[in-house]
Amino acid sequence: MASVTHPGEPHTDDLSGLLNRLRAGVLGANDGIVSTAGLVVGVAGTTLATGPIATAGVAGMVAGAVSMALGEYVSVSSQRDTERALLATERTELADFPDQELDELTALYVAKGLTPATARRVAEELTAKDAFAAHADAELHIDPEALASPWQAAGASAAAFTLGSLLPLTAILLPPPHLRVAVTFAVVVLALAVTGAVSARLGRSPAGRAVARLVGGGAVAMAVTFGLGRLVGAAVG
Ligand SMILES: [Zn+2]
Repeated sequence: MASVTHPGEPHTDDLSGLLNRLRAGVLGANDGIVSTAGLVVGVAGTTLATGPIATAGVAGMVAGAVSMALGEYVSVSSQRDTERALLATERTELADFPDQELDELTALYVAKGLTPATARRVAEELTAKDAFAAHADAELHIDPEALASPWQAAGASAAAFTLGSLLPLTAILLPPPHLRVAVTFAVVVLALAVTGAVSARLGRSPAGRAVARLVGGGAVAMAVTFGLGRLVGAAVG
């Protein structure tokens, strides 16, 4: 896409890409908040001892971050492999069948609404300048210079999850034992209200419902794990 816009200009593709990344970060943080909160509140349902709660919380944070990073790494890698294969095929076709490829590019611009004569001219000029870039853009909608990096995606996802996890982990470890669960509950509900509002804003959707769903879901998760912790603690201990 960037091949047909001015380099360095803050155009809408960059902006929506940034919003998408921010949104993914907020969602990753939500995962960290909810899953770690559920874990530590569940353990707090069985014991007042700090050690097991801290151990479970840290283990959950690390396991969650690694699992998120791995999932993201695998998914972005296979997407990049697919894009690379498409680009390689395109390069071969451009070398082997330049005439058909010019016709194909013309047809793409006709489909976009140009007259056949104008489309032909556009296709010829773009082909003369950089045929590969023109086909990558118009036909594959891929920017060969900006393929997603699996490592970067994995790192961002792990960082978001870890940041989110630190919140319930801190909230459960800092207060005195008898206030732990109540403080964590309040902190998590507040944090989810904020991330729900932020992600709704980034996605340009109404905030009220997003906040209600997220806060409701988080509260249910903590209530269920705390209840289970109590039951299991009573049965086993
Ligand atoms: Zn082509």
